[in-house]
Amino acid sequence: MTSDQYSHLRRFRRNATLRNMLAETRLSPANFIYPMFVVNGTGIRTPIEPMPGIDQVSVDTAVEEAQKAAEVGVKSVLLFGIPDEKDASGSRSTSPDEAVQRAIGAIKAVLPETHIITDVCLCEYTDHGHCGIVSGDSVDNDATLPLLAETAVSHAQAGADMVAPSAMMDGQVAAIRAALNESDFSDVPIMGYSAKYASAFYGPFRIAVDSAPRFGDRRSYQMAPTQGREAMREIEADLEEGADLIMVKPALAYLDIIKEASMRFDAPIAAYNVSGEYSMIAAAGKAGWLERDRALMEVLTAIKRAGADLIITYSAIEAARILASG
Ligand SMILES: [Zn+2]
Repeated sequence: MTSDQYSHLRRFRRNATLRNMLAETRLSPANFIYPMFVVNGTGIRTPIEPMPGIDQVSVDTAVEEAQKAAEVGVKSVLLFGIPDEKDASGSRSTSPDEAVQRAIGAIKAVLPETHIITDVCLCEYTDHGHCGIVSGDSVDNDATLPLLAETAVSHAQAGADMVAPSAMMDGQVAAIRAALNESDFSDVPIMGYSAKYASAFYGPFRIAVDSAPRFGDRRSYQMAPTQGREAMREIEADLEEGADLIMVKPALAYLDIIKEASMRFDAPIAAYNVSGEYSMIAAAGKAGWLERDRALMEVLTAIKRAGADLIITYSAIEAARILASG
């Protein structure tokens, strides 16, 4: 074979400038969403053991975190609330005095340009740790919907820019859309956790928000990892119910789902680079088993290349710093 008989793709890789010129995928802090765990109290930074660098924060320290994020160009945050008291119906989730509702106002006061998304679910607020009202040994879908709707409205009233229902109850997007519209929040978009899998990679998050189910698990409402086409039906249903953005969660083990969804649906797609994905890289990096920064950027690049427009990641601030340092 002579050299004009095979392709010459290596010519593209000769130097960094050329490689950068031809990069098909580019990460930007503008596409990152930084999740935070907000608790009541002040001056709190409680480290989350399996997620080194990530803390539970109180309202005031949440503002500091949002400032750190904004300084490196990450202008969107996703808030999870952890109440002091939990009960069977997760009643604290709708209170204007709870950590999330107060954090929204506090962040907005200092950073009016920061886009605040709130997680809408009950599992952080229920004493049994399930995402809805439990009757017998299962979660009652339809009894849960009004509570999720009320929670979303309370977040909008507190000033949330977008709400993100994550309970995986059928009809949750429609219920929330109707309630927001009735309360004059028709311009608040909904990001549906459309394809949310029952995943082992949520483990560190459950430690972070103390929401491990006290009995059973979430497999009766979250999707089985075996399901690809069913994810497309979930996404389609969310869009029909009025979701403005869709989400695939987790990201790394579900890149095929992100890819398929990005080709099939003309809606922005967020991918959730979840706690277990963060912990794996952190732990292996700490042990010296891989180069942490490179592994992190490779994973985020893969998520974007698969078709995600937005990436929800605990590494948002760090990744933005790495991007800025070239
Ligand atoms: Zn939940």
